[in-house]
Amino acid sequence: MNKINKFRMPMLHVVGMTPFNSTSTVCFIFLKEEKEVHYIWALRQLHTIFVVMGLPCTITTDRELALMNALEQIFSTSAHLLCVWHIQKNVTVNCKSAFINGDEWICRSETSEVHAQRLGEFSTKYATKPTILEYICTTWTPYKERFISAWANQCLHFGNVNTSRVEGAHSTTVKSYLKKEFEAKLSAERMRVYYYYDIPFYREVVKRVSLFALNEVHKQLVIAKRPSTEADPLCTSGFSASMGLPCAHTIRAKLATNQILHLEDFHFHWKLTNPTPATILILLGEPPKPATLELLLASINVTYQQLAPHQQQATHSQLSQLSSQTKEVSTSPAVARTRGRPQGSSNREGP
Ligand SMILES: [Zn+2]
Repeated sequence: MNKINKFRMPMLHVVGMTPFNSTSTVCFIFLKEEKEVHYIWALRQLHTIFVVMGLPCTITTDRELALMNALEQIFSTSAHLLCVWHIQKNVTVNCKSAFINGDEWICRSETSEVHAQRLGEFSTKYATKPTILEYICTTWTPYKERFISAWANQCLHFGNVNTSRVEGAHSTTVKSYLKKEFEAKLSAERMRVYYYYDIPFYREVVKRVSLFALNEVHKQLVIAKRPSTEADPLCTSGFSASMGLPCAHTIRAKLATNQILHLEDFHFHWKLTNPTPATILILLGEPPKPATLELLLASINVTYQQLAPHQQQATHSQLSQLSSQTKEVSTSPAVARTRGRPQGSSNREGP
């Protein structure tokens, strides 16, 4: 959310992630106020874009309750995470004076058991500071599934657990991510190969998924090649579930059976595919023109859902008429001669 604009209106900045792990602006939405009703309106507009592209799997925001409530209504099928960067900033502001030895807070617990244990230790340590405990327990604990790794990593967030990249994107313009740049990046990635990917294991995926994704998988391969010990962490499936990439455990199993990586091992997000026309237009910040029939029908559907029952009834009957229209009816009727004023007559009333 940004308010430094010439309209002095709250502005919702929505960004998405590219397969190269860079940020691209999806849109800016000006709001009248930061109330739930205004967020609902804004998210409905956003929904009309996504309904064509496919709905996002995960949306990350800061802890803005009006926005969170609106998200639950409009993007009910997407997972919703809270920005870890904002949480840490808030906790520091509220607890810094009371924290002992610059205590860190507890976002990175990989399992629910570890989280419960750390929360217990934290509560014992701060037993004499009830305001700290109350702040943590009322402000953050109710939302623990939305930011603590044990739960948050079950959502496909592609490593995107904070919105600080949006803050960075404020300083660049929408035009910094034009179609041309996307395509240039795409062809560069299709050309470039690093020597360590020149092994049979990567044969089917090299130049077909982004280098960022390959780098992430390569780190897992390095772990998988280490001799396993009893101290190795068990697979929580957090890495695969959150990144859409195979983890060290999956890779180790592949190596043991002489298997290689396949394209299906990577989530669609990481694949080097040309964006669809709708995506390009959205990257350009322009509404698709002229609207394709598919786009038009999708947007009619969204608008229809927002209408009052009596308006829905009227729209329904108009649409029924349209759908039962035959070829004969839709062609222009022949122009009939009338007895009225002859064509081209300038005998009109008034200017
Ligand atoms: Zn694993």
